[in-house]
Amino acid sequence: MEATFLKRAFGIGEGWEYRSTKYVGATVEFHIKAKRDGIRCPKCEADHIALRGTRERRIRTVPIGFKPVTIVAHVPRCQCRKCGEFFDFSPLLPPEGDPTLIALNDSLQDSAE
Ligand SMILES: [Zn+2]
Repeated sequence: MEATFLKRAFGIGEGWEYRSTKYVGATVEFHIKAKRDGIRCPKCEADHIALRGTRERRIRTVPIGFKPVTIVAHVPRCQCRKCGEFFDFSPLLPPEGDPTLIALNDSLQDSAE
């Protein structure tokens, strides 16, 4: 249900899978995770990719009723095994600067998976 809701309400769909909903204080957090199919190096297009942890991208979006809503996108940090390039694999989210979205902060964290 939440996956459909996120897609319809916020335009988040392709490339992401829904993980969980958390209630943190008054805030509703929707956690989503980038699907790892088809990851390719943006520099040399090799598909031999090593995962180097996860970055959390927190995006505040429009409230539901009176509840603030944050979308927490878990973005894999990747390294190309061929050319060594580091990159984040972040399928399309609503664009930065979208008036319904306010990026809160980006923070590096170790992968807990
Ligand atoms: Zn590469």
